[in-house]
Amino acid sequence: MTHCLPAVTRLAEWPFGYALTVDVEEWYHNCLVPGYVHPERRPPLPVELDRLLPKLLDLLAESDCRATFFVLGEVAERLPRRIREIARAGHEVGSHGYHHLRACERPPAELARDIGRCKMLLEDLLGEPVRGFRAPEWSLRHLRRPHVREVAAAGFLYDSSLAPYPLSGSRRNPLYASRLTWPAWSAVETAARELLEFPPLTFGGFWRIPAGSWTGRLVQPERLAAAAHRHHGSGGLPVAVVHPWEISEQPTPGPLSGAARFIHETGRLHYLPRLRRLLAAAPWRSIATAAGVAAPFRLAAPAILARVARGG
Ligand SMILES: [Zn+2]
Repeated sequence: MTHCLPAVTRLAEWPFGYALTVDVEEWYHNCLVPGYVHPERRPPLPVELDRLLPKLLDLLAESDCRATFFVLGEVAERLPRRIREIARAGHEVGSHGYHHLRACERPPAELARDIGRCKMLLEDLLGEPVRGFRAPEWSLRHLRRPHVREVAAAGFLYDSSLAPYPLSGSRRNPLYASRLTWPAWSAVETAARELLEFPPLTFGGFWRIPAGSWTGRLVQPERLAAAAHRHHGSGGLPVAVVHPWEISEQPTPGPLSGAARFIHETGRLHYLPRLRRLLAAAPWRSIATAAGVAAPFRLAAPAILARVARGG
């Protein structure tokens, strides 16, 4: 499917800041445990976000940081008040999809329905446009997958799902903020599609080690900050990644085993003071602010108002 491969242009001239991102999900939204992420197979499990989101908002306020919160639709439906609090505190709300299912394992049309449903839910909840998307577990995986184009087709301005390292993503994915452009698709869809891509930060130079997973929790935060400053100094937009369950400072409230447990637990219990040091090391902002894309992108107001009027 070579026609799925977009043209990639690095956004080299943009005056970027530093971006902080939060994937708003429970401890059990782990793609390595299918029985937890498929809602119809999920057993009753304890939840933490109602407690952790205010804690995270306080932490960011203390550090004078802002972030983009990529919110799961199923979480927004359960905790609408918490999601409004995020926006009221000056943060950006983006979409993490409706359910925490791997995008690349779903037919593109099914993914389109999922992300469209989540975008509409969040926009109705907040009364403002949702510009950004991040797939669960970086699962757009590779530029050439047709799923990436579905994100553009759903009306998102930017994506932050293409990891520039193997397994989660690919070394062929852009390392720096880029514009992806697809030619017109068919006789029906005559306009070219565009999507801005803001990939997650890595450290370790050539090795491109993820800064936002267990690998990042194991190293001194000053090392991650140095990687962010280097990336920024090269004209890039450093995108840091945090999860609410990483700051709980309590044992995980339900069972996890094998690789899921390793990835979730490694370096987690003592992570909060490290995160504080990382937050203090740079002026972290939302992606929309740090990339300077907040102002020019507006949803047509009547579309929002019509949906709000329907009681969304
Ligand atoms: Zn996630």
